[in-house]
Amino acid sequence: MTQAELAKKGVISPQMKTVAAQEGVDAETIRKSIEDGVVVIPANVNHASLVPCGVGHGLRTKVNANIGTSSDFGNAFSELEKLKIAVEAGADSVMDLSTGGDIPVIRREVLRASTVAIGTVPIYQAAVEAIEKYEAVVKMTPDGIFAAIEDQCRDGVDFITVHCGVTQSAISRLKNQGRVADIVSRGGAFLTGWMLYNERENPLYEQYDRLLELAKEWDVTLSLGDGMRPGCTADATDRAQVEELLTLGELVQRAREAGVQAMVEGPGHVPLNQVIANVQLEKSLCKGAPFYVLGPLVTDIGAGYDHITSAIGGAIAASAGADFLCYVTPAEHLSLPDLEDVRQGVIASRIAAHAADLAKGVKGAAEWDKKMSEARKRLDWSEQARLSLDPERSRRVHGTHATAGSACSMCGQYCAMDLVGKYLGVTTPRC
Ligand code: SF4
Repeated sequence: MTQAELAKKGVISPQMKTVAAQEGVDAETIRKSIEDGVVVIPANVNHASLVPCGVGHGLRTKVNANIGTSSDFGNAFSELEKLKIAVEAGADSVMDLSTGGDIPVIRREVLRASTVAIGTVPIYQAAVEAIEKYEAVVKMTPDGIFAAIEDQCRDGVDFITVHCGVTQSAISRLKNQGRVADIVSRGGAFLTGWMLYNERENPLYEQYDRLLELAKEWDVTLSLGDGMRPGCTADATDRAQVEELLTLGELVQRAREAGVQAMVEGPGHVPLNQVIANVQLEKSLCKGAPFYVLGPLVTDIGAGYDHITSAIGGAIAASAGADFLCYVTPAEHLSLPDLEDVRQGVIASRIAAHAADLAKGVKGAAEWDKKMSEARKRLDWSEQARLSLDPERSRRVHGTHATAGSACSMCGQYCAMDLVGKYLGVTTPRC
């Protein structure tokens, strides 16, 4: 049985107990939230090395890191290194978006090596196979798409992005209104090309029950993809995006009725003043389904620094109720990320997620900040490093310039903390 089916029957599973312990809440709260569809635990029954983690209402905001080969760089080893760096930096899940090299082999190695939930976008494999066989993505077959989904579910993938809401109706809205950047989702583009060329409806929408059956068999969480997500701020919150979201709301309901866990993916590029509205729309139309946002990037001009543009949007989105942040690296829009890009992307998203958790009052968030402030007050540098999101960088930067006293090299002997501590009669330990 899936976690959703167990929850409906009133059963508290070992996965629910693990998530409850991680979050510091009682297991019955987790069970009820899964029953209501506002929390998911992506945990494929075949992912043996997984330590389950929950995503959704009332829980700590989670961070996903994307890795994966491209057609230009198909080296599995480098992607396994990225997996390691992402998990060490604190990613709660990793998506393998490989489109180069031996995709099934890379996926299986990633799954074997990973203790965090692994997500994929199966249409990538179907598209690459169609190009290899017929030299055209538009020659994909619905059976080929479902075969890729089945392969990946059987391998142990915990959540899959499926762009079921890219319907003919959404495409005609997009065509009628016009856009600056059209479609920037790879999966959305593959499906749109296929649907226009073949003059057919999206097989993932048309055969949604078939998809639900596969997801149910291995308890794979559906991540209902945003193929129409805006790829520039000028296209944000337009008719094509909202049309797709309306469809996703209906599909969330059908997933819940079928005992399948579902979350919803969101934009993309969104100006700061529209971020909260986007979260409210999703939460209302999708009846509180966990919201998984890519960024959102709040400006289009941050190339080289898009981990920052997305962290700004991510913090606002998560504080308004988004549950899961997909990281963006400094290499976004420019190249395949390297190891350092992955590390910086995860840390930037974790800062956004934690800032939102403080605002949402998530258990433990304010206490963590308070401990850091107390360590700052004591000039306790080792404790500050331990409590920081990137302890190694914290130690390295503090040690860059030697100082005579216990303060840091910023103010030296004029350290405000040190001076005021003395005059207020507080003993400042020397570290
Ligand atoms: S020297 Fe300045 S920056 Fe450094 S700890 Fe003291 S007050 Fe803070």
